[in-house]
Amino acid sequence: MSKSITHPFEELLAAYSAGSLPLSQALCISAHLEHCESCAQKLARLNRVGSELMQQLKPASASDELKNRLLDSLDSLTADDLPEQRPLSTDSSIPRCLHQFIDRGYDDLPWKRVSSDIQSVELCRDSNGAKVELLKIKPGGSATTHTHLGDEYTVILEGSFSDEAGVYREGDFMVRGTEDQHTPVATQDRECICLAVTEGPVQFTGLFSRMLNPLIRRNYA
Ligand SMILES: [Zn+2]
Repeated sequence: MSKSITHPFEELLAAYSAGSLPLSQALCISAHLEHCESCAQKLARLNRVGSELMQQLKPASASDELKNRLLDSLDSLTADDLPEQRPLSTDSSIPRCLHQFIDRGYDDLPWKRVSSDIQSVELCRDSNGAKVELLKIKPGGSATTHTHLGDEYTVILEGSFSDEAGVYREGDFMVRGTEDQHTPVATQDRECICLAVTEGPVQFTGLFSRMLNPLIRRNYA
């Protein structure tokens, strides 16, 4: 059983500060940072250290040919080359980093039923294959005992849930590895919405729910 940890490890924050995290993990850190003053302060310190290190580095010299190629490629950019700008959500209860995926509010998303207790909606796929989705667990609902074929990152956006390791509330961040088997259960008072990043399909471990595994794997491909 894993210990209840509700903040990203220092190494993850350092990688976030250096801009070296995959998009999917960076979204989870960003969503957590909007709730967590202590991690925001740690990140500010890491950013300061990073910028001091950068200033001590000698600038690398670039050849004239490289500079010319860069300027030519900028000149040839047209409006069609720029990514399509979607209107950003103005719902202040949604983390800013997710506004690009959510036009209005959570209620207007195309939720799909996963089980009688859970609905999900996929926000995007990372280039490393990780799935970025929102999960909605009904009040008192259970996410069925499961493990993962890859790491699972979760940030609670609304409500709260508990599992074998503890109780998690809005803004809490957690990572579950492949060896962690857990059964999240939403608290009774309200539904729970989580940002979830899975690097491999979920594996259900209960007797009957094991029959779901082939379906889930097909859905993940
Ligand atoms: Zn934190």
